[in-house]
Amino acid sequence: MSSRPLSRIRKTITFRLILWYSAFFVVSTSFLFLLAYFLLSSSVRTKDRQETHEKLDEYAAQYRAGGIEALKHEVALEERSAKDEAFFVQLTGSDGSELFLSNPDRWKDFDLKKIASTAGEPITLRNYRGTQTVDIESLVLSDGAVLRVGQSAEQREALLETFREVFVAFMIPAVVLGIAGGAFLASRTLRPVRGLIQTIRSVSTGQIEARVPTSHTGDELDELVLLFNSMPEKIETLITGMRHSLDSVAHDLRTPLTRLRGTAEMALQSEQNPESAREALADCVEEADRILTMLNTLMDISEAETGAMKLQLTEVSVSELLADTVNLYAHVAEEKKLTLNLDSAEDLFLTGDLNRLRQVMANLLDNAIKYTPSGGRVELAAFARNHDAVIVVKDTGIGIAPEDKPKIWNRLYRADHSYSQKGLGLGLSLVKAVVQAHQGRIDVASKPGGGSEFTLSFPSS
Ligand code: ADP
Repeated sequence: MSSRPLSRIRKTITFRLILWYSAFFVVSTSFLFLLAYFLLSSSVRTKDRQETHEKLDEYAAQYRAGGIEALKHEVALEERSAKDEAFFVQLTGSDGSELFLSNPDRWKDFDLKKIASTAGEPITLRNYRGTQTVDIESLVLSDGAVLRVGQSAEQREALLETFREVFVAFMIPAVVLGIAGGAFLASRTLRPVRGLIQTIRSVSTGQIEARVPTSHTGDELDELVLLFNSMPEKIETLITGMRHSLDSVAHDLRTPLTRLRGTAEMALQSEQNPESAREALADCVEEADRILTMLNTLMDISEAETGAMKLQLTEVSVSELLADTVNLYAHVAEEKKLTLNLDSAEDLFLTGDLNRLRQVMANLLDNAIKYTPSGGRVELAAFARNHDAVIVVKDTGIGIAPEDKPKIWNRLYRADHSYSQKGLGLGLSLVKAVVQAHQGRIDVASKPGGGSEFTLSFPSS
């Protein structure tokens, strides 16, 4: 195998997770074992020392009561019953000469001269080959003699040896278990990441409908997957919206452009009359302006609908917004002999783009004035309802037929009765798109001849 795939595997998170997990598993298991080993060995050692001490006191009592003979008798009894596990017992005189040694054959491998000078303190004596040890406690008796009692560490060492063997035997499956656990954990944890990689590959090859499967666990990776899945949806909406806009712009521009062309052609074909040529040019300019306005409004609607519209959000005072709009239209309303009323709560605010909201209000008030005959009334009101800022534009105008009501929000839709008025049929489409871009909603209540009432509600700030 070449070193390239190997180094790629080494760089993967899966590999590193497995490594970390198994290392952590092995280290923590070893630590637990070492702790248990240390506790076991120190408790066995303490127990041995205690036993030796008790024996020492027992033999000293025998010696005090019956002299060396009593001691020998007691040791002989003990050796008979305990055999190889019997204690080391040595009695030396005050001059250091050995008075008694239990089972001398058993201790011939030990250099007893090493303990000759020690009295009263515990020592550990090793045999010549270093294979056996005996822990010795000693006591200086009242006549100057020194009594030494010791216990072989053989049994203790055997126990600890077994423990060490078990540890080594356990470590092999522990390492295998660590690696297997790491692999399982890494594979489970990284499943959404693998899904993400696969889906990004599909999306980048044009399969925009590809989605990452969600686990619904509610964890961070699940959140990432949900966020990622919402992205192609948004892109899809944007692309569809743009395609739609492009189609409708192409379709809607055909009529005014044909008209423009027709006017220009007629002017060219007509006799050389400067006056009519000037008129035709003026018509062309007017038509071009209409086309420009139409284009700009269509672009605005598309941007607002697809979420691409950049809103300069500020805290907007609703009463000031309405007052500005009323001021703007006061003159037109007066000329048409309409009563224009404003009733707005003062402390009402909403978060929005002031210029876009002015555009919304201007469109609604313009329509209300346009579709209300002379002598009528137009009212603007604003108030708070629950957590919303509500704006109402009401008129006593011609109203909207029930069959037209759902269509008035469509681009370029104009009800039959509207053709006597100027307009592009785009105002309400823009109003609705901008209101929705502000997380608001707009409804209309109207009946033919009975006036119309447009109600907007925005989350108030
Ligand atoms: P327009 O440029 O025709 O006013 P809009 O999109 O603003 O376009 O409105 C679409 C249609 O909705 C209008 O043509 C009209 O028929 C109807 N409409 C809008 N506002 C009112 C109103 N206040 N009263 C009666 N009809 C209205």
